[in-house]
Amino acid sequence: MEYNYLIVGSGLYGAVFAHEMTKIGRKCLVIDKRTHIGGNVFTENIEGINVHRYGAHIFHTSNKLIWDYVNSFVEFNRFTNSPIANYKGELYNLPFNMNTFYQLWKVKTPEEARGKIKEQCEKYAHILHPKNLEEQALVLGGEDIYEKLIKGYTEKQWGRPANQIPAFIIKRLPFRFTFDNNYFNDTYQGIPIGGYTKLIEKLLAGIEVRTGINYFDQRNTFDNLSEKVVFTGKIDEFFAYSYGKLEYRSLYFEHQLLDIQDFQGNAVINYTDSQTPYTRILEHKHFEFGTQEKTYITREYPHEYSIDNEPYYPINDELNQNILKKYQKLKHTFPKVIFGGRLAEYKYYDMHQVIANALEKAKKERYE
Ligand code: FAD
Ligand code: UDP
Repeated sequence: MEYNYLIVGSGLYGAVFAHEMTKIGRKCLVIDKRTHIGGNVFTENIEGINVHRYGAHIFHTSNKLIWDYVNSFVEFNRFTNSPIANYKGELYNLPFNMNTFYQLWKVKTPEEARGKIKEQCEKYAHILHPKNLEEQALVLGGEDIYEKLIKGYTEKQWGRPANQIPAFIIKRLPFRFTFDNNYFNDTYQGIPIGGYTKLIEKLLAGIEVRTGINYFDQRNTFDNLSEKVVFTGKIDEFFAYSYGKLEYRSLYFEHQLLDIQDFQGNAVINYTDSQTPYTRILEHKHFEFGTQEKTYITREYPHEYSIDNEPYYPINDELNQNILKKYQKLKHTFPKVIFGGRLAEYKYYDMHQVIANALEKAKKERYE
């Protein structure tokens, strides 16, 4: 066979796996149906600004091994994500912290804030095991926070009522009683200087990559080229939707180059009301403390997923998890295929988790 591995998808999973295998002398071919490498972390330089083409990507991890790994390819800056929420023209700090509580209720000390939140949550104290995002949010922060900062954003983002969305999703956001606007609790955080595409290019250096190629258009040909296949696309598509379609949430990105220096003074502003059709506006230069004369912004509109757009988020509710389990049981019928990444595992993974999984899989493959 011509290759040891055919890798379907040049996102972080595919690129890290390909890099590790190439390092030990295995021959890889990476294909991607998009016209560029990098999957969703792809960045493109426009007017000197590294534009996050598929939404804001902030690298964060508490795993030193992963942090050292990515830093061995590119240098990271000290960007700390501190988004602002705009609710009907009122501005609040995120994540939920003492600044937010002061802006909401004028409470000035952690004790006052705890007292206020206790009062706000009293009605929901009987909910011991929150069954969905709405219950989880009300139990955590009470009514004001839920109504102003969570409900509108969440229902736009997921296209369904908050009581039909898994509870774990809101637990991604820190809730703290210090004046700390850092959106993540992780030890390490930053953005690759020069953009994520640079990181992917380094990972894929010296590896054969073909873009603009859909695996499913020439599946047999590709399968016959390599001993093993690493698949990072949609798991339901891999199995020809034999147990039905998994649901995904998509996005539509509206990009704009503006002839002004600064549009919003922050990398990310969330619009948490239900009327504004987009969830966030990104201003890309702020990810790298840019001082360019122009600025580039992106409005992020949540969108129904269809075959014509990208499956950005898995919807991990019970219905979809049950379908997923059936597909997972079919995996053993394809012993030469490795399934990895956000789409093939149908998991709401962040970048560091995808890298950790790819490294672990690569380690196991060494001894195969
Ligand atoms: P992908 O990047 O999706 O790569 C899969 C690749 O496979 C794609 O390029 C696709 O074109 C290709 N492919 C699929 N099917 C085929 C086929 N049939 N033939 C050929 N190629 C195919 N994570 C963070 O840590 N921090 C963040 O701030 C953050 N922000 C995010 C914001 C948004 C809007 C989104 C959607 C995700 C965000 N993430 C963030 C998550 C991050 O994007 C993922 O964890 C990571 O990019 C997943 O890498 P992957 O390789 O699994 O998948
Ligand atoms: N969320 C919210 N209000 C916000 C930001 C986030 O209610 O201002 C909720 C929403 O349900 C979202 C989830 O928290 O889907 C996770 O947010 P995160 O910023 O992690 O989403 P991602 O960046 O992955 O789209």
